[in-house]
Amino acid sequence: MSETRLREQIADFGASLFRRGLTFGASGNISLRIDDGWLMTPTGSSLGNLDPATISRLDEEGRHVAGDAPTKEAFLHSGFYRARPKARAIVHLHSTHSVAVSCLHDIDPQNVLPPLTAYYVMRIGELPLIPYFAPGDVNLARVVEEMASRHHAVLLANHGPVVAGKSLADAVYATEELEETAKLFLLLRDRKIRPLDAAQVAEIKARFPIEI
Ligand SMILES: [Zn+2]
Repeated sequence: MSETRLREQIADFGASLFRRGLTFGASGNISLRIDDGWLMTPTGSSLGNLDPATISRLDEEGRHVAGDAPTKEAFLHSGFYRARPKARAIVHLHSTHSVAVSCLHDIDPQNVLPPLTAYYVMRIGELPLIPYFAPGDVNLARVVEEMASRHHAVLLANHGPVVAGKSLADAVYATEELEETAKLFLLLRDRKIRPLDAAQVAEIKARFPIEI
């Protein structure tokens, strides 16, 4: 796919996420691996109206070489790509239900959400919680990279999800699955729930391994 088309794809997915309320204001960012570097959404930009031509371009060393300056959260993306060579795209949102779950005090930090549906298991599987770090704290980059070597999706406490995919569509759909599952989890919070059992989860993982 040409770089022009990939830029358009980022803008299209960004607009779709924005329209449906999965991102707001200038929050959230998207990156995509290209042959000789990365495309990344610019700092201060709204995913709702990205101009494909001004999307940031980084070289193989992660240096900004064209377009507007990249998101200040570029380190989340670069740490993930270093840890997961198969990752082709990354989506990071401040999507409401995922952030809400990340603020609960009694969640399991090893795996935040129960396996409520087969599609959640197929697209996310396990979701570890990364402790809260203040904006700009360089230690977050180190912890994210460490966790990304074992998980393609993580939830930043009091902040939001970061999800890698083998394509941009893959990363977007997995992020949406996570957001919808967080919503279900909150809807069901005062009810007795019956998540999938260990055997059902194992069967899905065997049939649909997450290859990212
Ligand atoms: Zn963020």
